[in-house]
Amino acid sequence: ATPTAIMVGTGLGAENGILIKGGEYLELAHKVNAMVLDKTGTITEGKPTVTDLIPTEGIEPNDVLHFATSLEAQSEHPLARAVVEHGRKQGMKASTVSGIEAIPGRGLVGAVDAKRVLIGNAKLLEEHEIYDFDRSLVAGLEEQAKTAVYVAVEGKCIGVIGIADQIKADAKLAVNELRRLGIEVWMITGDNERTAKAVAKEVGIDNVLAGVLPGDKSAQVQALKKSGHIVAMVGDGINDAPALAAADVGIAMGTGADVAIEAADIALMKSETYGAVQAILLSRLTMKKIR
Ligand code: ADP
Ligand code: MG
Repeated sequence: ATPTAIMVGTGLGAENGILIKGGEYLELAHKVNAMVLDKTGTITEGKPTVTDLIPTEGIEPNDVLHFATSLEAQSEHPLARAVVEHGRKQGMKASTVSGIEAIPGRGLVGAVDAKRVLIGNAKLLEEHEIYDFDRSLVAGLEEQAKTAVYVAVEGKCIGVIGIADQIKADAKLAVNELRRLGIEVWMITGDNERTAKAVAKEVGIDNVLAGVLPGDKSAQVQALKKSGHIVAMVGDGINDAPALAAADVGIAMGTGADVAIEAADIALMKSETYGAVQAILLSRLTMKKIR
């Protein structure tokens, strides 16, 4: 593109809340033929709330919430904040916790009231050789696009907490438009496959990468690049930053973590999924001008 077209395109972007960090990204974006969207905070609002509390038979719901809030009070994870907020509303008082350990892509381990407590996904429990939990209970939650958080005390699952995160109003429209533009759409998430697929189905995405560990998102982007795609990655989280940097074009959500915004080539002022589509459209328009 001519310098003038790039300048006009960049200016037009800025006016519309699309901050492009260099002319080369505006030029490259029109070639994008695969877009990878992070789930939490990009397709969904990223404001999870507790919707279900299902104790194991013989367990009091308040016991589940007590152990869960005590442990999650030590975490900054969005799911942790949802649990703590729910506990606070129910008047729960957190106990002191010791020996806490965060396990990326899994959850937390620690001691509450001198008991060993685990909170997180099924993989976390399995990795600690706890297999006694009722998966059918959880399947129902996951089919409703909710995330199931398991609570285990002293080697036994005492209950499950269902957490929902609303899908952004324009996510489906954005996916449709990407399809119309001939762009392959992917969803990537650390969340489990069933929840991920339920969210993907609601917005019309067929390609789902679920259960991806925080450190593996960028490898997935690299793999798509190797298979001949020009890849745009859209994300908001700390764990999206390496993938944003690895993509041909990294696009960060306005409400994203500072490191995500820094790692991206294009930063959106707003937090709408459709902003990523607008960035592509702007690039196509800019490149057409000069041909
Ligand atoms: P993402 O941001 O893509 O959802 P994460 O790697 O942050 O990915 O989390 C992946 C999964 O790990 C979550 O869906 C959840 O099941 C589990 N997890 C991680 N941290 C916690 C936590 N503090 N409490 C409960 N579950 C957690
Ligand atoms: Mg996210």
